[in-house]
Amino acid sequence: MKTKEIIKKAQQFADAFRVTDGKKFRLKDFDPADTLGINSEFKPRAKEALAVGVQALAGFQDKLYAQDKWAMLLIFQAMDAAGKDGVIKHVMSGVNPQGCDVHSFKSPSAEDLDHDYLWRCMKVLPNRGHIGIFNRSYYEETLVVRVHPEFLAKQKLPPELVTKKIWKRRFEDIRNFEQYLSNNGVVVRKFFLHLSKKEQKRRFLERIETPDKNWKFSASDAAEREHWDEYMEAYEDMIRNTATKESPWYVVPADNKWFTRIIVSAAVIETLASLDLKYPEVGRDKLKELAATKAVLLKK
Ligand code: ATP
Ligand code: MG
Repeated sequence: MKTKEIIKKAQQFADAFRVTDGKKFRLKDFDPADTLGINSEFKPRAKEALAVGVQALAGFQDKLYAQDKWAMLLIFQAMDAAGKDGVIKHVMSGVNPQGCDVHSFKSPSAEDLDHDYLWRCMKVLPNRGHIGIFNRSYYEETLVVRVHPEFLAKQKLPPELVTKKIWKRRFEDIRNFEQYLSNNGVVVRKFFLHLSKKEQKRRFLERIETPDKNWKFSASDAAEREHWDEYMEAYEDMIRNTATKESPWYVVPADNKWFTRIIVSAAVIETLASLDLKYPEVGRDKLKELAATKAVLLKK
């Protein structure tokens, strides 16, 4: 498949799930089991399609790294068992590890809590030429912290700043922060892996019943299901308030892992393709120097 065709296909796939105008967004318009009409018979070929994507991505990353101008930040948010880890592992499997860094954000440490909430994320933003991946992110501040107010209470904020307006302010700060990144050559893309409650239950049961998957299961994950509807409301509000043209959200159907991976791969490819990445051009002096060195090497 030619690169042009791959980019075109990637655009088609990514277009279906990209949200650039939050105001119009409604979670109920997106189906976690959507496969764009591609039936499960395609599944064996999905691996092939992903391999094509992985290879294309590696090519783009090589140029991103060589050009050393843009950085790309990919943010993954999802309910447990939606497949964040698997997506990161498979979609990025072909990239040069030297130009890619992954950061997972768990419960904040005492040092984290002694700072504003963006601090721990800002410290690890990707260098120019790099792809940075956030497995969870500052968006947790509008999700788990919103669903569990006890986390907010631990944040040592001055009480007069903790008002009803806090979520609106956080969305505003995040929008401004992402605008700032985009103004400075850090391209932000955000992925919500949209899993159904039913499929989550199936995956949890699988984790309990398969010894090799036991380590992935924790009882507290299952307890969070009690708050499912609150989480969905929080996700919807988050996307409504933070999806913009410069930093879109992709609402990726997550009930079929093969499809999730293809869509994320497509979105990353079409984003890198839009940057018109090129290997740095070598000037006349450098060409002369190369020719002279070649001549010396050939003589000896
Ligand atoms: P996995 O379960 O696949 O290993 P994970 O991302 O779920 O990966 P865990 O260690 O299970 O990792 O969970 C991390 C937890 O940290 C999540 O429950 C998440 O909601 C929580 N967390 C992340 N950021 C914050 C935050 N700012 N405040 C409070 N809790 C947070
Ligand atoms: Mg977990």
